[in-house]
Amino acid sequence: MEQKLSDKLFNKKEKGWETINNDEKNEIFSFCDNYIKFLNNAKTEREAIAEAKKIAEENGYKDISSFDTLNPGDKVYFINREKSMYLAIIGTEKLENGIHIIGSHVDSPRLDLKPNPIYEDGGFAYFKTHYYGGIKKYQWTTIPISIHGVIVKPNGEKITINIGEDESDPIFTITDLLPHLAQEQMQKKLSNAIDGEDLNLLIGSIPYENKEEKERVKLNILKILNDKYGITEADFLSSEIELVPAFKARSLGFDGSMVASYGQDDRVCAYTSLAAMMTLQNVKNTAVCILSDKEEIGSMGNTGMESHMFDYFISELLNKVGENRPNLLDKVFCYSKMLSSDVDAGFDPIYANVSDKTNSAFLGRGIGLNKYTGSRGKSGASDANAEYVAWVRNVLEKNDIRYEISELGKVDIGGGGTIAYILANKGVDVIDCGVPVLSMHAPYEVTSKYDIYSAYRAYKAFWNE
Ligand code: MN
Ligand code: MN
Repeated sequence: MEQKLSDKLFNKKEKGWETINNDEKNEIFSFCDNYIKFLNNAKTEREAIAEAKKIAEENGYKDISSFDTLNPGDKVYFINREKSMYLAIIGTEKLENGIHIIGSHVDSPRLDLKPNPIYEDGGFAYFKTHYYGGIKKYQWTTIPISIHGVIVKPNGEKITINIGEDESDPIFTITDLLPHLAQEQMQKKLSNAIDGEDLNLLIGSIPYENKEEKERVKLNILKILNDKYGITEADFLSSEIELVPAFKARSLGFDGSMVASYGQDDRVCAYTSLAAMMTLQNVKNTAVCILSDKEEIGSMGNTGMESHMFDYFISELLNKVGENRPNLLDKVFCYSKMLSSDVDAGFDPIYANVSDKTNSAFLGRGIGLNKYTGSRGKSGASDANAEYVAWVRNVLEKNDIRYEISELGKVDIGGGGTIAYILANKGVDVIDCGVPVLSMHAPYEVTSKYDIYSAYRAYKAFWNE
């Protein structure tokens, strides 16, 4: 039969599920079972790094400090202050001929405790919070919340907290006004219906027994915390405590085709890139995996991608392979390639009006690439060069990996950014390349298992190129 002209000329956007057989479907589902387990163990950046370290060590990766010299095939990692991590497998090619980087972030939008969090009012004890990253505040009321983080005492003792995940743990919540009395609130704009200062976590209501004491509900909570962790109120001053949804990650839909979970931005790309790296044995160009922190608040600080910690790591690689000389780091970056593995806004038919349908990432069609992000006229974007996009397309196409290249919403509607520009500014060829998500930044985000597996395959193909 003669091929139809449209089949030859149109960019076919196939639905991924219709292109696979039963074995492939089973492979996708079992990969995602492990992803779901990872999500449930990694609800904060520190927990994600602890899990990643465990996975890396099980696969033969060792702390870079344990190597004096590095040779092709050596597998190393570097952990920065328990919150970000770089992994590498040394290639046969010299580093100065370019490295292949995949970079995601392991922090997610959440509520942090204020430095002086605890107070009592109306017979209740509360924790005050300060939200982290771009959230819709109303979504964080009346959901079960768990408490994760660390408290560090002045003597250096570090206490790890994780309450609300185990079935036998209590959970916590932020209350909202009943509709009967919410007339005024309901007239407000969604953006300020819930005030940031009202995101206070309900943590107790039994007063301490000795009536001679004051603020007895607060006191009772502090006593419980003192008995359990040996801490006093002042120890919150040197803590990092994060409040996250207590929901578990689950398969979504009658057909189980999707994953619903907190924190898929960007742990879906962190997990898939890490899993891809664990399959690598011999690579030509040194493969580097970045799990960064602080992306959701601008990548600043010494665990964010803007810091010089990454340069330091690559310099250490150069030193230990015995290749370093003045300014060589700049050359490494200028010859390197990167996939900035961060999530993309998935097309949501219920909110179709914010998207340009011909340039949207649809769930279930494979990995989503953004040539550029930014907002209103590409402002702040690192626009990938056409030559590099072609190189990436070639890698995906010859490995039969489905992908779509899209924009984040309509031109004048809004926009966003990732860590892409940071590496691009160093001279690296970078394109955004991740999994499309529905309800991004919400307590429960939605992804397609087909896309998750496509991301894993895409990252593997990129590093093996
Ligand atoms: Mn992200
Ligand atoms: Mn984000």
